[in-house]
Amino acid sequence: MAIGASRKESSTFGLARVNLVTSRCLNSQLPRMIASSGSFWQHARARARWRRSQLYIRTSRTSRACISIAAAVPTIRQTGQMKRRKSARPLDRFPYSEIGVSYFAEQAYCEKRVELWLQNPTTSGLVSVPAALEGLAEAQDQEDLVTSGKDFHEAVESATTPLSSSEIARAVQSRSFALAESRLTGEYRGVRLRGRPDHVFFDGRDASCVLEYKVTDSNQLPTSHRVQLLLYGYLLGQQNFNVDNFILVCVLVPRRHDTWLAKLAPSRIRKFLTTIRAEAESLIAAQPSRKNWHQMGVEISRGIHVNLRVFRYDQQRAESELEFFTAYWLGGRDAIRTTMESKCALCQYNQLNLCPVPQVEYGG
Ligand code: SF4
Repeated sequence: MAIGASRKESSTFGLARVNLVTSRCLNSQLPRMIASSGSFWQHARARARWRRSQLYIRTSRTSRACISIAAAVPTIRQTGQMKRRKSARPLDRFPYSEIGVSYFAEQAYCEKRVELWLQNPTTSGLVSVPAALEGLAEAQDQEDLVTSGKDFHEAVESATTPLSSSEIARAVQSRSFALAESRLTGEYRGVRLRGRPDHVFFDGRDASCVLEYKVTDSNQLPTSHRVQLLLYGYLLGQQNFNVDNFILVCVLVPRRHDTWLAKLAPSRIRKFLTTIRAEAESLIAAQPSRKNWHQMGVEISRGIHVNLRVFRYDQQRAESELEFFTAYWLGGRDAIRTTMESKCALCQYNQLNLCPVPQVEYGG
């Protein structure tokens, strides 16, 4: 066990921030035990709170806090106070105040994997990489994919000018406008939600189209991407935009093109966005009675092709997805594992034997 401690002090109350690397069981039990124990914590008005692997304690005697914690850990172990308690709801173990829609997408991929991540959340927030592998070569592929996606998103974002709230208020009065990487918030059954769609186009108060880019060599639209796009529509509806005719577009960018966009001038990127949007709208105009549309190999620049998956926003569908996924966060049901062997074969929790219910062996 490694213990490191640092602290800030104020005249009346102090905030002790203590880095603890402990067993998973001890991690979950320690804050309450420290807060309630009188034997070594007599002077503290302690309120302990976990955030990632750090314990924050607000106390009237901060300088004692670090000493006490260092003393407390072995004491707790020796006196056997680590009684198993009923585990908190997954929402209570989530390290952030709002659940990003990407976590719902992760649930759609494999909820069991989210559950395993929650037992020891990584600092990157990347669910697919167990804490034990974070930053190591074994996890590099997963992290590289995220980084390449990030580079792509940053290139797109840099080509657009963010609007201030007052500009948005003015824009909705009169004209079409687009928002890039804007933070949306909302809630469902008391669960606070947030999302950051890549691009959203508006006609005044009408949200008309969202573009979400995924750097992948697949040309399919997995449920996880579909859920993520639906929830963007839900959040826009919560922010009083009209989503009756909202179109959801997933732009699948092959990995070999992920750096291409970063090299483009902003004016070319704007052209790229216009091309994608126009292509999606013409797909719908050609066959309006369909529910889903796709277009493979859309050329957006010489030799650069992307694949499009397009569907309409459906409020009922979004709410039924939220009902299903929030039931897990609120403790209404257990995590559900994936049934796809191909996911388990690549899963790094499976590699570390952390998953109790894998479909196949790692690499199998
Ligand atoms: S091994 Fe399979 S079931 Fe287990 S967490 Fe990984 S993907 Fe999910």
